[in-house]
Amino acid sequence: MGIVEKMRLDGKKGFVTGAARGIGKCTAFAFAEAGADIAVVDMDLEEAEKTAAEIAEATGSKVIAVKCDVTDEDQVQAMVDEVVSKLGGLDFCHANAGICINAPADEMTYTQWKKNIDVNLNSVFLTDTIAGKYMLSHGGGSIINTASMSAHIVNVPQPQCAYNASKAGVIQLTKSLAVEWAKRGVRVNSISPGYIGTDLTLSSPTLQPLIEQWNAMAPTGRLGKPEELQAICVYLAGDQASFTTGADFSIDGAFTCF
Ligand code: NAD
Repeated sequence: MGIVEKMRLDGKKGFVTGAARGIGKCTAFAFAEAGADIAVVDMDLEEAEKTAAEIAEATGSKVIAVKCDVTDEDQVQAMVDEVVSKLGGLDFCHANAGICINAPADEMTYTQWKKNIDVNLNSVFLTDTIAGKYMLSHGGGSIINTASMSAHIVNVPQPQCAYNASKAGVIQLTKSLAVEWAKRGVRVNSISPGYIGTDLTLSSPTLQPLIEQWNAMAPTGRLGKPEELQAICVYLAGDQASFTTGADFSIDGAFTCF
């Protein structure tokens, strides 16, 4: 069997959070295209259902939609239980849901800070540990977390201290879980995308006007596309990545190189 065939995910079952649109939708699509059965998890059930139907139609894989606010422990537990029962197991997951709150630190409210940390970091702890507990007791698995280049650099000109701190936390959480679980069959890795053209950037009234400035700073001169994150996630989910754990993958068109 060639390497491309070995990278397929036939028979595997996984879920992606924040998968109704954007990066999560794109990786859910790729996992299904590679042969996995997938749960599209999002707090927006209507969009998640549309996305699940679209992916199922295009790929022929089993794709379900599950409503879940990833900041709520009970909902995350119920979501993992539903995925396991409807798909018949859980081999991998992509903890991807996130938001970006922009405010100068000296004007940011504690409520704004806590919201960003809750959605971007606390939710990853919940998703990883609840999914991880299932994987640890069922033969192992692979967890992928969406961090960001903002874990590595401070973005300018927009002020976003809570986002940057939350994403740096995601990387250290990833490494901590990877070390704790390395001998127990559960791998944990993260991806750190640069600016990607999704609703988070293209439809944000505060971020969209900055795109020209970002592109002027970017070695590639452009935003990334969500599709440009698909292959790394398929690799990380599958068995070809069996020695890859505790790693963070920068996919940012060299934005963080200088
Ligand atoms: P997006 O706004 O297009 O999509 C985010 C999805 O997450 C939405 O469907 C939304 O409903 C869902 N969501 C938000 N809060 C949720 C919650 N509490 N529970 C469940 N679902 C929730 O964003 P995107 O650009 O696709 O970003 C996805 C991830 O990638 C985020 O973690 C983001 O921080 C990260 N990221 C994005 C970029 C970028 O430039 N777009 C760059 C680096 C990292």
